[in-house]
Amino acid sequence: MPTVADDSSAPAAAITQLQLGEVALSCVVESQGPLLDPFELYPEATPSLLEAHLHWLAPRFYDRAAGRFVIAIQGFVLQSGGKVIVVDTCVGDCKARVRGEFNAASWGWLARLRAAGVRPEQVDYVVCSHFHVDHVGWNTRLENGKWVPTFPNARYLFTREEWDYWWSERGNWGRARTGDYMDDSVLPITEAGLADFVAMDHRIDAAIALEPAPGHTPGLVAVGIASGTARAVLASDLLHTPLQCACPQLSTRFCADPALSRATRLAFLEREAQSGRLVIPAHFPAPSAGVIERAGDAYRFRPTAGAVLKATPGGV
Ligand SMILES: [Zn+2]
Repeated sequence: MPTVADDSSAPAAAITQLQLGEVALSCVVESQGPLLDPFELYPEATPSLLEAHLHWLAPRFYDRAAGRFVIAIQGFVLQSGGKVIVVDTCVGDCKARVRGEFNAASWGWLARLRAAGVRPEQVDYVVCSHFHVDHVGWNTRLENGKWVPTFPNARYLFTREEWDYWWSERGNWGRARTGDYMDDSVLPITEAGLADFVAMDHRIDAAIALEPAPGHTPGLVAVGIASGTARAVLASDLLHTPLQCACPQLSTRFCADPALSRATRLAFLEREAQSGRLVIPAHFPAPSAGVIERAGDAYRFRPTAGAVLKATPGGV
């Protein structure tokens, strides 16, 4: 069984597969590397706060030379009861974006999804944990100059809270910051009649249900998995880096409601430190799974290697 690499120069696992009871989970990475400046990500962080945590953050979670957090962007595939469920669809290729790293990208995540054993036509459900640029990209692909649904036979599960927010005045401002991904990655889905608006606690099947986690965005959902004795949660952007376990007060610059984001994160950490569920945040370097533990009056993230069935290096 692979162990969690302590050396950030080791090739990142492009595909990590875990078996959770009857549910098979593949974590399919689109990109991984030093991306976010700590003070861009966390406006309330100070150099001395960061310095106090660098001894454990680097090199796995923080690249000292680049002065940036190591960030994975990934989507997940759940295979459960004969259904195929994709959770989050990364940045995508060929899209016009404000952030240089995301603009007109060509990471080939769809090919990697095929390498994980999933053809787009097989996908039954697509869940967007929220409508941020790095979670909706492969909702659509370019065909003859038009954005068309990548997963033509899927129902795309959206929450009304998220949808409404992005058409509000504040949402308009957020879209201007990152490029108008609603137009090229969300609207083509509703226009094709493939979207279902579901409650934030919507149950997909006996093993998988959405869990409300508002704050980072108003309609953000985690995805809980319970099968046999296995318990896990795809935690989306409840945590961007494990520094938020040690310093749960840190909300990001990208949080729509930083105070609510903080309250939701604190409740999540408290709950998961007791639940012992496998926690899989969207942006922790692969393999991203671990457990939350109490550490004094805060928490720590302990990466778990034992649950990983297979890690496929893929030059991401
Ligand atoms: Zn994100």
